[in-house]
Amino acid sequence: MILVSACLCGINCRYDGQDSLNPQVLELFNKGELVPVCPEQLGGLSTPRACMEIVGGEGKNVLEGKSKILDKTYTADSSGEFIEGARRVLKIAKVLNIQKAILKQRSPSCGFGKIYDGSFSGNLIEGNGVTAELLRQNGIEILTEEDFV
Ligand code: SF4
Repeated sequence: MILVSACLCGINCRYDGQDSLNPQVLELFNKGELVPVCPEQLGGLSTPRACMEIVGGEGKNVLEGKSKILDKTYTADSSGEFIEGARRVLKIAKVLNIQKAILKQRSPSCGFGKIYDGSFSGNLIEGNGVTAELLRQNGIEILTEEDFV
């Protein structure tokens, strides 16, 4: 089995209550090969929720307590929920002995290789989201939806 960001399968779990459906990923999902997870929901955040970005670093820094996940006003700190969600996704992976994940690019949770830079202006930096980083640190191979286009 392979973990997948739930929004890529058409589940409306994004911050804005929408999905990020990817037809190729959905095809795999429909074959029963994927386990959909949304780390932000698993961490206890509601849907819809505020748009949030990692400010001052990347997922690794959030896990170390050196960067925060904030909303556009830079006042609401959701770092704890993001870390909790990442831990819960890792637990699911371990329980099911999952070695691979397909994650949504650019997300502060699921992004792998590229994430938004914390300015809320669409700029990207190199780095991983919190869940992607925790999975990577635990030896799970990560693909993104961009590997399917
Ligand atoms: S946390 Fe991941 S699965 Fe959930 S909506 Fe964001 S990108 Fe999709």
